[in-house]
Amino acid sequence: MRRVSVRCMVGSVAVGGGAPVVVQSMTNTDTADAASTAAQVAALAASGSEIVRITVNNRAAAAQVSEIRTRLRDDFGVSVPLVGDFHYNGHTLLREFPDCADALDKFRINPGNVGRRDRHDSNFAEIVRAAIDHGKPVRIGVNAGSLDPELLDELMDANARADDPRGAEEVLREAMVQSALRSADAAEEIGLAHDSIILSCKASRLSEMVAVYRDLAARCDYPLHLGLTEAGMSTKGIVATSAALSVLLEGGIGDTIRASLTPEPGGDRSLEVRVCLDILQSLGLRSFRPEVTACPGCGRTTSTVFQELAQAIEARLEERMTAWRTERPGVAELKVAVMGCIVNGPGESRAADIGISLPGTGEEPRAPVYVDGQKHITLEGPNLARDFMELVEDYVARRFPATEGAGTVS
Ligand code: SF4
Repeated sequence: MRRVSVRCMVGSVAVGGGAPVVVQSMTNTDTADAASTAAQVAALAASGSEIVRITVNNRAAAAQVSEIRTRLRDDFGVSVPLVGDFHYNGHTLLREFPDCADALDKFRINPGNVGRRDRHDSNFAEIVRAAIDHGKPVRIGVNAGSLDPELLDELMDANARADDPRGAEEVLREAMVQSALRSADAAEEIGLAHDSIILSCKASRLSEMVAVYRDLAARCDYPLHLGLTEAGMSTKGIVATSAALSVLLEGGIGDTIRASLTPEPGGDRSLEVRVCLDILQSLGLRSFRPEVTACPGCGRTTSTVFQELAQAIEARLEERMTAWRTERPGVAELKVAVMGCIVNGPGESRAADIGISLPGTGEEPRAPVYVDGQKHITLEGPNLARDFMELVEDYVARRFPATEGAGTVS
């Protein structure tokens, strides 16, 4: 069962309060370079990111935020909510660049990075007042790597004096949760509305991150943004992120998610978005695109025909989804099977909306196609992928009729 949180609006996107789990991402361009940043935001949005965060780290960056918003609208027709990521100097930048504050849809601040001692409270208050004045929500984003040292010292000292002291890791987790909750209380005392606050407590170790979020979820009703911070590169980062987010989402915790993957040099930043979409779709929480069931292949599939066909169909479906998403409501629910041989092929193909069972080694070079659980036709010859894709197109046209002015899928 989903945890019940209040609903926070980030631009036009609802976060929490029973809304679908929202996918976020973050740019890695220099925000002062408005052209590159706008192009990357547009690419992330096109991949499926519903909120995009940009770093606002200095005056040059803050000065370009409204230009980025303008370019997104005029050059790309994109209105995705933008979040400004502030550390150390957010209070100054938001004061000096009110048009930056206006152009953003949310501010993200880290209570460990707003200033030390007497400056902490005044800087924090100035950022919160800017949010109130500009009508923006705030994500209070605690990070294990930049935890407020004074709060941690306070809890460590108290723990050392306790009759039954807890382990250091447990105290660290408690400090993260308290940092988020105390900051949220402080923001509300300054005047920020309860439903204008989102919390996150990111850690880089899965067990630590899961424990912190479970605790946080039990102690407040703010929407929660989930992330395994610094997840790493390639397979390791994807697996760690998927495992951490899935454990929490399956337990009903989490209102927005991000995969903090380190891209390969020259790699595609949109990978972090695709990972989030796949996590939500795999868990059955959202449907973004047709699901292709493809077997892993084995000694019965000695040729590459099977892999090539599965890949070609996935690619074609992805390409067609750009138009289908708006034209054909519900098409993201489509289930397609591409199977390698007679062992599991007919069964999985029957279970899909439309499926093809390719011939394995030693089988007749024929590929039966199943539609809605019934054998429909048998394909053969060199154009299997094209012929099967035509059948998929016909099926989609019949099952998901085009609706003029239809909206996007949920
Ligand atoms: S369906 Fe056939 S080819 Fe695919 S993994 Fe199973 S036995 Fe191997």
